Amino acid sequence: MSEPYDYLVIGAGSGGMASARRAAEYGAKVAVIEAGPLGGTCVNVGCVPKKVMWNAASVADSLHAAADYGFDVSAPEFNWAQVKQQRDAYVTRLNNIYSTNLDNSGIELIRGWAKVTGEHTVQVGDKTLHCEHMLVATGGKPSVPDIPGVELAITSDGFFELEQLPASVTVVGSGYIAVEFAGMLNALGSQVTLAIRKDAVLREFDTDLGGLLMEQMQADGISVETGFTPRQIEKTDSGLTLSSESGTEISGQETIILAIGRVPNSDNLGLENRLLAMTPRGFIVTDEYQNTSHRHIYAVGDVTGQAALTPVAIAAGRRLADRLFDNQKNRQLDYTNIPSVIFSHPPIGSVGLSESQARDKFGDNIKIYKSEFTDMYYAMGDHKPKTLCKLITSGEKERVIGCHVIGRGADEMVQGFAVAIKMGATKTDFDNTVAIHPSASEEMVLMR
Ligand code: FAD
Ligand code: NDP
Repeated sequence: MSEPYDYLVIGAGSGGMASARRAAEYGAKVAVIEAGPLGGTCVNVGCVPKKVMWNAASVADSLHAAADYGFDVSAPEFNWAQVKQQRDAYVTRLNNIYSTNLDNSGIELIRGWAKVTGEHTVQVGDKTLHCEHMLVATGGKPSVPDIPGVELAITSDGFFELEQLPASVTVVGSGYIAVEFAGMLNALGSQVTLAIRKDAVLREFDTDLGGLLMEQMQADGISVETGFTPRQIEKTDSGLTLSSESGTEISGQETIILAIGRVPNSDNLGLENRLLAMTPRGFIVTDEYQNTSHRHIYAVGDVTGQAALTPVAIAAGRRLADRLFDNQKNRQLDYTNIPSVIFSHPPIGSVGLSESQARDKFGDNIKIYKSEFTDMYYAMGDHKPKTLCKLITSGEKERVIGCHVIGRGADEMVQGFAVAIKMGATKTDFDNTVAIHPSASEEMVLMR
């Protein structure tokens, strides 16, 4: 038997890499097992290539606004293939940086699919690896509905392989990925239909955000089909046809993108023997210290089904390593007040409770502040998307428990407010802060 590792990490994505490197900083003997490209979902088929495309779409938006500011930019042309090539090259550079980081940290990289065979053992190919502590950070993959013709559609993974901008595209879903992709593709020139099951998008968020986003998407030319649960996909002479359970059809589509959630990578991990407690949907159950039901085995990130965001996986992974290898006994991630941004058109920033969550928790003991306005950026032209700022407070001291913004710049606005909210800021603290003028964010400290 080879000498056991102190820490064997399965998955070189956001959570696994962060935890492995922090453990190695403390002198632990660490190996990371990875079957795919280094960096996991975020680097290869998630945040990074998505943000490149969102940036491209933002440039397209600026070109529309250019004439209002005196520029003549008639007939600009967009070269999808060029952006894809540059984007892929950037991702490859990041893969290489991840590889160098592993080398520099003295972490061994083991290539292949890992199977957990016991409390301290993992199988990779014909190798059995032994460890003191094991981290499962295997992430997730797109959920695919079991409907006829589903192989004709793509998921977010397939979106990043597209060699050209689809002339027509239907995006199915109403969460983060669906609204982000629908907005980007529309801004870049596709004819976009968004097919949603219920009557609103982003139903997990404050309803004002989804409501205003849907209005804006429609004003920008996206066709939104509500009450649409996919039943089947067919190929016809005029393109793809997607039909719904209620009998409606969307036809003539070049591309159909399914964005209906993600499932955990826990099905082919050797966990069939129920070594670890899992939810009915296959997420690994952890406590607040990322402990699984089995001593010595821990899990972080998307595979745990909690706040599937890169910074969450990283923070949970680092804190776990602090606890295991630096004796920081109570080190854990606080999963409350996690800020996030939806890179929609316009973008959304959100931290804390939605109005309905706040009402469930505090009843009528909450106060809502809202301001809806047109950003001065749009004053010169006819295109006038709205910005909405919303604060939710609770109690006599009016502690701020929710902060939600949709509008230009929201993506860079909310991080700072998240610090204030995490520190327990009250509405008076917001009021006592001098505004930055002229800006959209000044509304956050001026609302009455
Ligand atoms: P992953 O990053 O998925 O890493 C898991 C790794 O484990 C993978 O590399 C996989 O190959 C490997 N693996 C799995 N099983 C095995 C096995 N048995 N053996 C060996 N290796 C294995 N989050 C944000 O915060 N901001 C964003 O803007 C954002 N945009 C996104 C856009 C899209 C389109 C998607 C899909 C996701 C986005 N996310 C975003 C979410 C973010 O990517 C994830 O939350 C994050 O990557 C999760 O990290 P993780 O470490 O849990 O898993
Ligand atoms: P989400 O969980 O955000 O949304 C998926 C939505 O699809 C569901 O809420 C549901 O909405 C709808 N849906 C579910 N099943 C079906 C079905 N069978 N048919 C039609 N619609 C269905 O998932 P995403 O795939 O968009 O993203 C996965 C996760 O990745 C996100 O939750 C987020 O954590 C992360 N992510 C983060 C990003 C960021 O930080 N900017 C960007 C992209 C992803 P309803 O019930 O209303 O129908």
